[in-house]
Amino acid sequence: MAVLDPWVECFFVGALQMRCSVVTDRSTGDTIIIDGGSEPQRLISWIDHFEGRGPDWSNGPHDQATADDEGLGPRKVVALVNTHAHFDHSGHIPDLLQHYPVKWYLHPDDTYLQSLAQSSARRWGFDAPTPAIADEPLISGQTMDFGALSLSILHTPGHTLGGCCLKLVVADGADHLFVGDTLFAGSVGRTDLPDTGGDFDVLAASIHNQLWPLEGDTIVYPGHGPLTTIGHERATNPFVGEGAGPGGLYGRGKYA
Ligand SMILES: [Zn+2]
Ligand SMILES: [Zn+2]
Repeated sequence: MAVLDPWVECFFVGALQMRCSVVTDRSTGDTIIIDGGSEPQRLISWIDHFEGRGPDWSNGPHDQATADDEGLGPRKVVALVNTHAHFDHSGHIPDLLQHYPVKWYLHPDDTYLQSLAQSSARRWGFDAPTPAIADEPLISGQTMDFGALSLSILHTPGHTLGGCCLKLVVADGADHLFVGDTLFAGSVGRTDLPDTGGDFDVLAASIHNQLWPLEGDTIVYPGHGPLTTIGHERATNPFVGEGAGPGGLYGRGKYA
């Protein structure tokens, strides 16, 4: 079901500055955390109490007083959802699950990758807890309900086997698309990472077949770097956009 005027907050977390998006339905307070991969205490303090550093970007209230002024009640986290299982996106999910007794959703084709989150983090020199096992599968082609919020699931393999883009349908404005590392402003996800199943041709096909048909004003929330739109990337992306020519700019995207 489409939501009215959702409240979206983005936190760039961890050493890889990964975008964690927190989406709240203003009328019920129901909230989902997309890619809660790092800095769990920062996320929890802000979501529960408006305390601490807070988000790097938000279209919602900036503190408790503003929330009270807008008549917004307390938030209730109803689910954790992941675009994919690279450690920067999923490494600290176990810490969030300890605090929020909810289900964690991931595409099953990333189950193996998720089991490596702790060892991958250590290889990059970071620590992470023993990986959690996702409770529920994201099902491609379906619109899945999370409390008062729902997301359309687009399975877009290429960066990882189980990578998904998550579309939040907005009743009174542009839709929001959380793409993980499938697409970036002016780039695409890397396809050369170990144990991941990356493949540029598969990634390009996912983007051409599943993302380019979306409305041009759809707001794209990439896993790293700035926001963009489907229309802008479709027209200008040097790897997969209309100007890329046959085969595009074959090479590697910028981010992990
Ligand atoms: Zn990433
Ligand atoms: Zn990734």
